[in-house]
Amino acid sequence: MVPHTLIPNLLTIAGTDPTGGAGIQADLKTFSALGAYGMSVITAVVAQNTRGVRAVTPMTPDCVAAQIDAVFDDVRVDAVKIGMLHNEGIIAAVASRLRHYRPAYIVLDPVMMAKSGDHLLDPNAISALKTQLLPAVTLVTPNLPEAAALLGALEAQSDDDIRAQLHEFSKLGARATLLKGGHSHDPAVSTDWLSDMARAEDEPIAFTSPRIVTQCDHGTGCTLSAAIAALLPHHDLIRAIRCAKTYLDGALSAAKALSVGQGHGPLHH
Ligand code: PLP
Repeated sequence: MVPHTLIPNLLTIAGTDPTGGAGIQADLKTFSALGAYGMSVITAVVAQNTRGVRAVTPMTPDCVAAQIDAVFDDVRVDAVKIGMLHNEGIIAAVASRLRHYRPAYIVLDPVMMAKSGDHLLDPNAISALKTQLLPAVTLVTPNLPEAAALLGALEAQSDDDIRAQLHEFSKLGARATLLKGGHSHDPAVSTDWLSDMARAEDEPIAFTSPRIVTQCDHGTGCTLSAAIAALLPHHDLIRAIRCAKTYLDGALSAAKALSVGQGHGPLHH
């Protein structure tokens, strides 16, 4: 852990959102709001707004690797958040550079699709994400559809399905998995489940919060994973997740004060 007197340096490796709601822009806002110093490596420039994705221009794997090298050659990096990686070449570049630099904390948000239904990850790259990156990270944060895609399974419907999928993630080498239940059909609450190989108990931990119904939910996954990464240098994993969820609930509730776009609006950080 980093001493509490030191401001943590946080790096996000992700895609962009010019309307500021998701991706790199959401991550940097989250880092600042939680008192960290934010840095960013861009994997893809995404022409998108609150209504959908218009075009994706990926950086070359060499360009992504060069950005990572530029940061680590100069700056102490206390934690890394990984978001949109887009394709297999970028996944390989990120995995190789992070294996080299070995930052203390890595949170992987396995971004696959935007709420608008647009693909942010080439479906052929899912297996690379699973084999090259998953075993190298501190925490992976799939939602229910992403977990199903990574495991080649149906979406979990019950608590037993969730336990079984968490077990599958640990067999794939994930040190800890936070399976996010926000896509479930429970109208009252939203529950996320954590399994952590470092804990002695087998039983996953449930984090339950009241469901906040809002049209302004663009970038919720990005924000949660960025918040956990920002908090990990100063807190243990369970406390980091708890505080990150409180932060996300606040940003979702505060979003009603914004008037940004006509689709899924952003959160207010
Ligand atoms: N755009 C980028 C660049 C992202 O990284 C993400 C993250 O998941 C999204 C869009 C998706 O945002 P949402 O599904 O919340 O609309």
